[in-house]
Amino acid sequence: MGADAVQRRSIQTQEGTDAVQRRSIQTQEGTDAVQRRSIRPQDSVAHKKPNSEQKKIQLIQRALRSWYGKKGRSLPWRKTRDPYQIWVSEIMLQQTQVNTVILYYEEFLSRFPTVHDLAKAPLEKVLKVWEGLGYYARARNLHRGAKYLTAEWNGRMPDSETDLVRIPGIGRSTAGAILSLAFEKPSPILDGNVKRVLCRLFAIREDPKNRDVEKELWSLSKNMTPERGVHPYTQSIMDLGAMVCTPRSPDCLACPLNMYCLAYKNGLQHTIPMRASTKPIPHRQSALGIIHKQGRVLIIRRPEKGLLGGLWGFPGFLREGRKSFPDTLERGTKRDLGLVIQAGQKLGKVEHAYSHFKITLHVFECNSSSGKSKNRKNVNCKWVYPSQLKKYPLSGADQKVIKKFSVVGGQLSAKNKTQDHLQRNR
Ligand code: SF4
Repeated sequence: MGADAVQRRSIQTQEGTDAVQRRSIQTQEGTDAVQRRSIRPQDSVAHKKPNSEQKKIQLIQRALRSWYGKKGRSLPWRKTRDPYQIWVSEIMLQQTQVNTVILYYEEFLSRFPTVHDLAKAPLEKVLKVWEGLGYYARARNLHRGAKYLTAEWNGRMPDSETDLVRIPGIGRSTAGAILSLAFEKPSPILDGNVKRVLCRLFAIREDPKNRDVEKELWSLSKNMTPERGVHPYTQSIMDLGAMVCTPRSPDCLACPLNMYCLAYKNGLQHTIPMRASTKPIPHRQSALGIIHKQGRVLIIRRPEKGLLGGLWGFPGFLREGRKSFPDTLERGTKRDLGLVIQAGQKLGKVEHAYSHFKITLHVFECNSSSGKSKNRKNVNCKWVYPSQLKKYPLSGADQKVIKKFSVVGGQLSAKNKTQDHLQRNR
């Protein structure tokens, strides 16, 4: 280890010691708040003297490395050190399970093999490849990020946290992952998996979303990140969180860290991480129209900023007060698209859930009687044959509508037109 590395490490250790001292002071105060924070602060790795702390951290790193050698997952993005490919995988892995990401990752890279290819592509093409992966802001940010890198870095990925976090969609943890996995720089990460492992390992009994707690977790993550062998370390702690120290059923008996884990030692693995009580998710009701004109249907493109930005779909409007769904649909279409329609048969309902709300779509077949669809409120309109729908990037909810009501070949499936559905819901 070079002198710089030693110095850096001792700075980190000093930070750890400061944290220990801060926590010990709190412990001496003996307040309830302190008791909530940690079960037995003096037991924590972070509370030992620097040498002992350092030694224990090294043992944890060794245990993780050895476990990863035997049990680590072989994933497509682990075969590369290309920062662009690692960036794509890290963005896809935010909010999405590994098995789903595998299906998209290689397809995305085959369509956009380099930063320049991604920057040159129209957003609509990027969204089409992303279709079904959800959280479309990620795709829009990747696209914006590629344009930024092309303009500012000639398509190269910078290798410092300061520069990486300037790229749209890259936060500190993603920057840490890119630095450690592509550039072998000892840079901490703090994604959801790592947060959970650290909270349990050090028995942190507060909501990790709390700002002070998060600060402390960053400090712990930094202390845990080795100077050498950072690539396998980062992968191993991510894998441990995903495979063993899982949110609902941590497999402590099989865990390589169980002898160091304060949550396990105190039987708290099922109650840590603690969560502040969550608000109930709102449930919205919306009227959605499949509007016909001469064998074609109307689709609209949502504004690029906002929910489902840049995606196409059928026109839909949130129910206004106690108005009926057909009224909501007819008024909304006139107001926002300049089109007079008649809402006809109700085809049925489609349920969909987003991260922060649920929605029931009440789907109606409609006819356009007068007016010309106009692009208003930054919304583009198009009349397309149902067989052409697959060319457009569509939201998950719209795809459900297409599937449920067989909106293909210019016909809606008769099988879905039950008597119930034929009732107008005035
Ligand atoms: S012992 Fe259990 S709670 Fe602790 S890190 Fe391992 S799996 Fe997680």
